[in-house]
Amino acid sequence: MTGTDRPEVIAYVGLGANLGNPTLTLRGALASLAGTAGVRLLRSSGLYRTAPVDASGPDYLNAVAELATSLTAPDLLSVLQSLENAAGRERPYRNAPRTLDLDLLLYGSSRIDSSRLTVPHPRMCERAFVLVPLREIAPDQVPCDMLARVQCQAIQRLDTI
Ligand code: ATP
Ligand code: CA
Ligand code: CA
Repeated sequence: MTGTDRPEVIAYVGLGANLGNPTLTLRGALASLAGTAGVRLLRSSGLYRTAPVDASGPDYLNAVAELATSLTAPDLLSVLQSLENAAGRERPYRNAPRTLDLDLLLYGSSRIDSSRLTVPHPRMCERAFVLVPLREIAPDQVPCDMLARVQCQAIQRLDTI
């Protein structure tokens, strides 16, 4: 799965964690992505803290990464899911606290609707913890009116990741 012959596509990945050591886990996930064949890590947002949405548990740490990738979107999703598994991700119920969540937000301008992958991520526009860090690294992807719709959601920027 080197993807060496395919042209690169700019993709955005949302990272989240609220179990274990989220800061270390998110840093490790970014390092793993940067070291994945067919993936170049171009930029990552700062680290943000948000309260869980529709769930209980500790606050989340979130970030968004910009990648250039020669992987197909399904192959990139497989990489993301491998990293989640390596971080001990479990899914006891919907929106359960998690050691690592990696969502494929955007894959170029592609629109994908398959059984295992929907892109753009169908809920990204409802979520300040996605839109605020995404806007930090890719302001063109988040128009002001889109951001305005989530401004009631509390989000705190902590630090560079
Ligand atoms: P949400 O999707 O609302 O953020 P979640 O991240 O908690 O919820 P998961 O349990 O991590 O949901 O993923 C459930 C399924 O979503 C995965 O098995 C995956 O196949 C599918 N999926 C569909 N589109 C995407 C996408 N763009 N990025 C990541 N997973 C996706
Ligand atoms: Ca998610
Ligand atoms: Ca997910």
